[in-house]
Amino acid sequence: MTGRVQPATAVTHPPRVEVPADNRPLVAPIYQSVKFTFDDVAETKRLSQGERDGYWYSRKSNPTLRQLELTLAALQGREACLVTASGAAAVNLAMLALCRQGDHVVCFAEMYQPTRTMIRRVLERYGVRHTLLSIGDLDAVERALSATPTRLVVFESPTNPVLKIADIGRITALARRHGALTLLDNTLAGVHNHAQFDVDIFVHSLTKYVSGHGDAMGGAIIADQAVIDDLRAEMAILGATLDPQAAFLLQRGLKTYFLRYERQCHNAMAVARHLATRPQIRDLRYPGLESHPQHELARAQQRDFGSMIAFDLPGGPDVAKRFAEALELFTISSSLGSTESLILPPQLLQPRDFDARQRAWSAITESTVRLSVGIEDSGDLIADIDRALAASGAA
Ligand SMILES: *Cc1c(COP(=O)(O)O)cnc(C)c1O
Repeated sequence: MTGRVQPATAVTHPPRVEVPADNRPLVAPIYQSVKFTFDDVAETKRLSQGERDGYWYSRKSNPTLRQLELTLAALQGREACLVTASGAAAVNLAMLALCRQGDHVVCFAEMYQPTRTMIRRVLERYGVRHTLLSIGDLDAVERALSATPTRLVVFESPTNPVLKIADIGRITALARRHGALTLLDNTLAGVHNHAQFDVDIFVHSLTKYVSGHGDAMGGAIIADQAVIDDLRAEMAILGATLDPQAAFLLQRGLKTYFLRYERQCHNAMAVARHLATRPQIRDLRYPGLESHPQHELARAQQRDFGSMIAFDLPGGPDVAKRFAEALELFTISSSLGSTESLILPPQLLQPRDFDARQRAWSAITESTVRLSVGIEDSGDLIADIDRALAASGAA
């Protein structure tokens, strides 16, 4: 600035502190700035025309978000990533950007409820049709794809809460043969899984394993560069942008991602093996147990088996409710993949949008319980479960 200015001006234009190019911070700073500037208009124009790198407005891009996007794309084994304000935003904006009026979507009863609602209620309103199937019935998927030209097959694996494993190789092959794109919500498996498959678009809730600490929300769309370039232009106007502060927390969460994930899988296996010995537990589902109906498929397509466990506690919903309330280390809460262990009783798992057939596909009964296992000591978790089983009166 030339010349002296008054205090009101000085506080609005504080001195600029530049870090020398050979003197870098070990942890990248948070670029908590909405706006970026060039000294001349020509360079600003070149940026807006895509002729140079840089930043202009954080709704479109920001260096803190960029760092997270580069890390996530590499983890998921694809060229590019676009982060969003939440997992729901990633799923929904990807579908909105990829579909147009008259398109057909194949989706599944065993999917995250808000995703189903988006397809069944919101996309429907804009003239996007869908067929809702069970992830266990790939013959029905083939029939649907043969009968109706399809834009998108949207699916998850493992599914939530009962941990069915989607046969990703078969689904992607069917979709490819019939000219449909595949969109895999990979949240439950994590960003290090499933890269080897011919999936067109991965979406994630970063709120779960990536944040890991239950203190930041975010989402990601991960795909080849051309797909992300197309999406980014629309994303910038749809506006569900991740905040740089949250991006920083998510980037920090990633540093311990593998440590946490390994510990959670180890604990979940210990808890599942223990539950398998308890006579009160029915229909125990953990993909890492040999008794899981799709254990071999899970072993073939995942690097590990995750931290989620589901089972039934016979005796009616009240027994399961008492069990959940008697637990001291497992907190009654939504979400998953955090450091703390969590439980959802059947009262909080019931799908509200299903007919009888879809309810059967979902495999959620009036006594289904879902656990998300954290990083505590596994012996303490098992003792907590035994104490709560006794207190619940489970026969
Ligand atoms: C939690 C979750 C979402 C939504 O993510 P948010 O970050 O809560 O918006 C989407 N899909 C799956 C499978 C999830 O578990």
